Amino acid sequence: MARRAPSPIWLLAALCALLLLLRPRPLQAAPADAVQPVAAQPKLVALTFDDGPSPRTTPRLLEGLDRRGVKATFFLIGAQAEEEPDLVLQMAQSGHQIGIHTYDHVALTGLSQVDFDAQVGRARQVLTDLLGQADFPLRPPYGAVDDGVKRRANAPLILWSVDPEDWSDRNTQRVAAHIVSNVQDGDILLLHDIYPESVDAALQVIDQLHQAGYAFVTVEELFAARGVPLEPGHVYSRCPPPE
Ligand SMILES: [Zn+2]
Repeated sequence: MARRAPSPIWLLAALCALLLLLRPRPLQAAPADAVQPVAAQPKLVALTFDDGPSPRTTPRLLEGLDRRGVKATFFLIGAQAEEEPDLVLQMAQSGHQIGIHTYDHVALTGLSQVDFDAQVGRARQVLTDLLGQADFPLRPPYGAVDDGVKRRANAPLILWSVDPEDWSDRNTQRVAAHIVSNVQDGDILLLHDIYPESVDAALQVIDQLHQAGYAFVTVEELFAARGVPLEPGHVYSRCPPPE
């Protein structure tokens, strides 16, 4: 399937969203015990969630993100998106970005074109049927990329720069602390919204990083803010501010 160029209307909408995001904040008298002043030019970070949607955990995450005015990026498993179409629609309606994480979570390296299409093409079709567009970035499971994946992706390949390995111990405090102590401007954070502990960690991280002057944006907003085009078959793991 050919990848469509973003329409001018989409670009305009993204630009408007960005200008809104980057507008100067009104000056307020900071309480004497304020942790840190909010930077005039916010540091940007993209929160990404893999392996969903899950009816057990994703709704609470979406509610928490909405309440905080935070936009995230969800890399969905096609088979689960098919089972939870309302969650996918809710994500899109809330302004989150949606990407592909294959149809049933398999490593994409070494696959034939037919097998690749059965994973990526099929997942893209599920999302297209739900959302009416076909322009979804790809996060390969396990971050596994080879030349075949790059050649066949037909989408930018989005990896990450901060990985607390939330699946390893499902420990909210450790996961949140790992992110807060490692994060830098332009990072892409990896979490999995299928674990309640990761949902809790994500919401804690948001509250702490907001206080530290970070703004949360989708992956496409992060790269657009810094004028970096996302090209099909290229691998991206973070987008620091220009020197
Ligand atoms: Zn995964």
